[in-house]
Amino acid sequence: MSRAMIIGAGGVARVCAYKCVENSEVFSHLLIASRTKSKCDRLKAELDGRGTEIETAQVDADNVPELVELINQYKPELVINLALPYQDLTIMDACLEAGVNYLDTANYEPLDTAKFEYKWQWAYRDRFRDAGLTAILGSGFDPGVTGVYSAYALKHEFDEIHQIDILDCNGGDHGYPFATNFNPEINIREVTAKGRYWENGEFIETEPLEIKRSYTFEEVGERDMYLLYHEELESLAENITGIKKMRFFMTFGESYLTHLKCLENVGMTSIEPIDFQGQQIVPLQFLKAVLPDPATLGPRTHGKTNISCIFQGVKDGQEKLYRLYNISDHQEAYKETGAQAVSYTTGVPAMIGASLVLKGQWRQPGVFNVEELDPDPFMAGMNKFGLAYVEDRQPTLVP
Ligand code: NDP
Repeated sequence: MSRAMIIGAGGVARVCAYKCVENSEVFSHLLIASRTKSKCDRLKAELDGRGTEIETAQVDADNVPELVELINQYKPELVINLALPYQDLTIMDACLEAGVNYLDTANYEPLDTAKFEYKWQWAYRDRFRDAGLTAILGSGFDPGVTGVYSAYALKHEFDEIHQIDILDCNGGDHGYPFATNFNPEINIREVTAKGRYWENGEFIETEPLEIKRSYTFEEVGERDMYLLYHEELESLAENITGIKKMRFFMTFGESYLTHLKCLENVGMTSIEPIDFQGQQIVPLQFLKAVLPDPATLGPRTHGKTNISCIFQGVKDGQEKLYRLYNISDHQEAYKETGAQAVSYTTGVPAMIGASLVLKGQWRQPGVFNVEELDPDPFMAGMNKFGLAYVEDRQPTLVP
């Protein structure tokens, strides 16, 4: 029996709300609050009567006093932040002021700089610890499950992990020449940024999408994938002792990349405001407004995602390889929750992390990335709530 509050009502929040209700023994009371209240009301209408008492509210998550007032009114034990990365710090501030625990799925990004780093959120460690509150950072899939997989591999399979390759394959097809599977602004900022990988104690920078490899994914087939910088590399470099090399790859199709290059070349992916007919607009935000809303992709997206971590290391003095992965089906996710698999693979881990905080298994004062906590109950939760993991003891390596 506990009270939780979700902020946001997009694809990820939708899946998380569905999964909280499926786990209503833990989530007996849920407040869904977001900028557009009608989206929260729609979710409540779909989920009422299934065991969780749901309320809804309008909130501007950029506004700390407004957040504090709502949190104080509802008195949740935990706030699950599924709005955008821009709101992470205001929501953390509000949680501290109101004395409640915090969890998110993406690290803070300032609106005016396409740069994501944990330093802003790690700076809250002392304040959360001193207040006796828990903040869990990055409890989605990547970051999230990738960190839990790493902690699990280190706990059960290795004495030392020397290399981790994270492979994020979305083999889904929505039928549009160009659309993004989650918030276009966040997605395009991530993909157009310079790449970075970890080697021998430092990050090596690459040009955007400079490093390309191909890999054959179970139930998807062979796909081209590109090296990107991704936020879990920063926390895993700190938390996986002995790690020597880490890379993150994401698959992209030809059509996506050709459109993206063209949009980039004409300046549509820029976050520098421009003057348009007497009004300041940010080209990337305008682009977001004309692209298909990711929330509408669910019914049209077919195919599967396959996300994995490949580990290389040592056990009992022997070199060892090990891979953990999950396959999710877009149409199955849509039938169950009304959202496609990219939202599904994020919303389920958000619920699992939240349930572990509420049950006390992941409750300790301070700010934590998921790999710092016990992976076992989280792994069990994934098998129970629709993100079963598969072990591969003879993985193909990425050159
Ligand atoms: P959406 O854009 O679909 O949803 C975001 C929601 O937040 C919307 O409902 C939006 O309101 C609401 N929101 C935005 N700004 C505010 C504000 N100031 N106040 C209140 N509500 C606000 O995004 P997704 O659901 O796809 O993604 C949610 C989060 O999950 C993001 O942070 C994203 O980066 C992260 N993510 C993490 C992944 C992982 O694996 N770790 C993978 C995919 C996403 P409105 O409806 O009015 O627009």
